[in-house]
Amino acid sequence: MIKQNLEKICADIADGAAKAGRKKEDVCLICVTKEANSADILDAVANGALHLGENRVKEAELKYKALGEKVTWHMVGHLQTNKVRDAVSIFSFIHSVDSMRLAQCIDKEASRAGHVQNILIEVNVSGEASKFGITPDQLGGMLESMKGLANIHICGLMTVAPYTDNAEDSRKYFIALRELRDKYGLKELSMGMTQDYAVAVEEGATMVRVGRAIFSK
Ligand SMILES: *Cc1c(COP(=O)(O)O)cnc(C)c1O
Repeated sequence: MIKQNLEKICADIADGAAKAGRKKEDVCLICVTKEANSADILDAVANGALHLGENRVKEAELKYKALGEKVTWHMVGHLQTNKVRDAVSIFSFIHSVDSMRLAQCIDKEASRAGHVQNILIEVNVSGEASKFGITPDQLGGMLESMKGLANIHICGLMTVAPYTDNAEDSRKYFIALRELRDKYGLKELSMGMTQDYAVAVEEGATMVRVGRAIFSK
């Protein structure tokens, strides 16, 4: 089942990329494992999953012990500063940076660990009150303030669109994130989940974060 799910998602990604005149290789599929058991995760990895996403550091630590560096780990959930030291030791990318305080903490811990941490800034483009992320008009100032943080590499932007049954509802938010990315000359666009990853790819996603479409039974 997981094999077929992955095949379908990869085909959808290829279609969406073609529609936008892009290559499927330009889109990274992050398999979000927060609701998957270890057998399912191993199954996904055996069927080509190279990037895994988690939204809890504790969960990720257990899975990291089992899989280690066979895959690339992405932190996609809200990150508390007291978990940053552990997060920096596991995740190649932290997608959910939403404050200067968190950025400074990541910078400090990455420096201590002796590496440069890849991060994305989470932007709440929909303005939904329940969502994490900075507002679009905070982005310029935040990028400016982060310039002094030598152990952080700002790869791009991430967003979570409001829950919907109609993927088209997300399109305007994805366009808004892409425009911000372009305005500030960044690279990565982490957007699109089970509900709307195909639309996200059409609108320029370079990373899609998909859980249920891979792992739910
Ligand atoms: C859970 C989660 C996903 C994956 O969502 P699905 O609907 O299962 O595809 C993506 N991004 C974040 C931040 C998540 O927490």
